[in-house]
Amino acid sequence: CGVFGVIGVADAANFVALGMHALQHRGQEAGGIVAHDPEKGFNSAHRFGYVRDNFTKASLMEALPGPLAIGHVRYSTAGSKAAVIRDVQPFFGEFSLGGAAVAHNGNLTNAEALRRELIEHGAIFQSSSDTECIIHLMARSYQKTHPDRLADALRRVEGAFSIVAMTDTALIGARDPMGVRPLVLGRLGDNAYVLSSETCGLDIIGAHFVREIAPGEMVVIQNGKIESSRPFHASQSRFCIFEHVYFSRPDSIIGGRSVYETRRQIGVELAREAPVEADLVCPVPDSGTPAAIGYSQESGIPFALGITRNQYMGRTFIEPTEQIRNMGVRLKLNVNRSLVQGKRVILVDDSVVRGTTSRKIKEMILDAGAAEVHFRIASPPTAWPCFYGVDTPDRSKLLAARMSEDEMRDWIGVDSLKFISLDGLYRAAGEAEGRNSACPQYCDACFSGEYPVAPADQIAKGFEM
Ligand code: 5GP
Ligand code: SF4
Ligand code: MG
Repeated sequence: CGVFGVIGVADAANFVALGMHALQHRGQEAGGIVAHDPEKGFNSAHRFGYVRDNFTKASLMEALPGPLAIGHVRYSTAGSKAAVIRDVQPFFGEFSLGGAAVAHNGNLTNAEALRRELIEHGAIFQSSSDTECIIHLMARSYQKTHPDRLADALRRVEGAFSIVAMTDTALIGARDPMGVRPLVLGRLGDNAYVLSSETCGLDIIGAHFVREIAPGEMVVIQNGKIESSRPFHASQSRFCIFEHVYFSRPDSIIGGRSVYETRRQIGVELAREAPVEADLVCPVPDSGTPAAIGYSQESGIPFALGITRNQYMGRTFIEPTEQIRNMGVRLKLNVNRSLVQGKRVILVDDSVVRGTTSRKIKEMILDAGAAEVHFRIASPPTAWPCFYGVDTPDRSKLLAARMSEDEMRDWIGVDSLKFISLDGLYRAAGEAEGRNSACPQYCDACFSGEYPVAPADQIAKGFEM
């Protein structure tokens, strides 16, 4: 998901809509905005579909007045996969202290246990979302201010959260102690502040990057001032390495490092680790493009756009049902026949999850007359599900959980298949010494099976780490 908030401009909701549009790659199912105006109070709108199809309508935007607003773009990981408008964030609550709204990126790993406990004590849930627990925990807190109540609530939840929240006077940002999901602070003009999942959300409205919200930090922005606190116990930072590989936009900057450059460097590492004689390096668009450029630069094998992507389809995997996902590949990608005919082709993609994409692309490229097909993958084999906000399927559907690399190569049906090593990935992400196995610098659980936070709800249901 993507979260965004602005305080201190006239009609903040318009800026929020633009920020959400820049974060659309983080979630395409639905979006919502809550805005506050000193005279007209809180207003909200929640819609299915793209930001550009909803939050561009004058009639809708005029109903979201005020200098303070937050927004959310949704990609369902927790909660209902069916399209239910009640699950679309931000969530709003009317408390004794006044109203407050919360938008959340990430996934809480103890939300099911908390929900049962809260329901037993009389909470009435409106949605199936893990995030709603935060609202109920805030309602139950004895703290005297909204930020203190939010901190109270966040001390009870486990897992990954980057939060953008608001009251009638304050914009609030918070990140879980490990900082699994990104969140940055920006400044717009002299008096306005912005919170965004990624820096590309600042760029679109001309805001300046100030800094990242630190893992375990909470910021409260009101009256042009920023108050920072550390409500959680200290913990080692474990940012999601898959943000670098796939999830974030390549023009975003994370930890002072361009996501594009990390991806290009993954390609360089891959060319060193897994060289092969071939005529062309082709990306599987768009997510494989920077790594393919790096592979081509390092190997000296020419880069070519052997596959064309239809711009008007969303990301395949973000479509929540398997049936749509299966159709997706052909709807979205087509091979440039004249280019690949008779050629030995290296295809570079970001990840192999179920393996269906790779298998279909191989078919398409062989149909088009390629002489050989070699897959190079910009992440290690995805063998474990993510419980922190990326929608990987359970182990039974993960190709790498069932097969060795050679078995995967044969199942996909290609001449060779190689994945970047974990160390190579860490080097590409700027860790010159590679992965510190005693204390990894990132979360890489979907590749290593080492979960930095035990997924309590899953373990209760029989998941074995
Ligand atoms: P596959 O067909 O192997 O499941 O999907 C691999 C390709 O689709 C990659 O190009 C990746 O960009 C994307 N993808 C498909 N499904 C998922 C998923 O569930 N999680 C992630 N992280 N990527 C996926
Ligand atoms: Fe990111 Fe993978 Fe960790 Fe999930 S399990 S947070 S996708 S690195
Ligand atoms: Mg892809």
